[in-house]
Amino acid sequence: MTAQGERLLATLDAEIKNLSTLEHKLARTKFLLQEQATRLRLGTSAEIVLTSLRLSVLHDTTLAVLERIDPVPKSAGGVAMPVYEYYCGQCEREVTLTLSIREHDKGQIKCPKCDGKALRPLLSTFMSQTAKKS
Ligand SMILES: [Zn+2]
Repeated sequence: MTAQGERLLATLDAEIKNLSTLEHKLARTKFLLQEQATRLRLGTSAEIVLTSLRLSVLHDTTLAVLERIDPVPKSAGGVAMPVYEYYCGQCEREVTLTLSIREHDKGQIKCPKCDGKALRPLLSTFMSQTAKKS
């Protein structure tokens, strides 16, 4: 085999390995999404399913899902504000943050008490702060 052939072979092998890894991740993601879809159909609440997704599914996939369901403010409707609970390692207490889903998923978070970034997520809950029509 020529040197060029060897380089090409090495590149192909590396790419095949990358794709295998990706294939494995995708298969796992698909399985997890199917699992969560089943839970939803069986009556599990969207909040709980979302929490499971955050904890288990690839970040990009979760973000893609959240982008689609993230409520867009409508003229007369309300916006569900997700409330996230964290444990701050710096003040050693639990703190609650109200963030947009994008802020949360981009990791732009800091402790409201000490501005520290040593935050560990606890389970998230969706608190619906819906402005009722009067
Ligand atoms: Zn703190």
